[in-house]
Amino acid sequence: MPTCKICLRKFQKLRYRSPRICICGHCTNSLNDYREVAEYSFKSIGDLLKTGMLKNAHADSSPGAPKWRQERGQKILANFDVEFKAALPLWTNKLLANPENRSKEFKIARAYRRGLLHFDRPIGWGYPNNWREVSANIRALDGYSCISCGAVNTELHVHHVVYVSNFGTHQKNNLVTLCRRCHEEEHETVFDFGEDLLSPESLPANY
Ligand SMILES: [Zn+2]
Ligand SMILES: [Zn+2]
Repeated sequence: MPTCKICLRKFQKLRYRSPRICICGHCTNSLNDYREVAEYSFKSIGDLLKTGMLKNAHADSSPGAPKWRQERGQKILANFDVEFKAALPLWTNKLLANPENRSKEFKIARAYRRGLLHFDRPIGWGYPNNWREVSANIRALDGYSCISCGAVNTELHVHHVVYVSNFGTHQKNNLVTLCRRCHEEEHETVFDFGEDLLSPESLPANY
């Protein structure tokens, strides 16, 4: 069974499964509901680690502890900011790799690391000038077929898994090829245009 790269759970069927991203329906909906960039989540994860490190260091340096532990605890407390900075990357990786960690912060942080979400608020909402080229590349990477229903030889759109308006990126992991029908279902709307007729400027922000 495929694993969702955001919650790390296994699913019979994922919402999107491209050669670049596997994501379940819950995570797709959650990331679009949170409407948050990733920096706050990394800060929360950092704060969690800081609290844990301080607690351990204080416990280590308590008078009842063996001498080697007291020394270790005192060393960390004496130079806490440096010790914390050094420990942060490794511990963040460990926490993100643990499937038990499924809260919002971890989903957002994983989505950022997978290239789906912005780290901080982007300046403006525009599409890149080379959107036509970017989207053509995505169709090619997806084998010119809808990654949802498998349709080929049909009008193919490029969809943002996390919407642009919800801080989704234009990076290739956040982009999937959908046929017009699946794309209309996704947005619960009927398009009166064909994507190939569009210029990037005419695309609404949440597509
Ligand atoms: Zn998931
Ligand atoms: Zn389709």
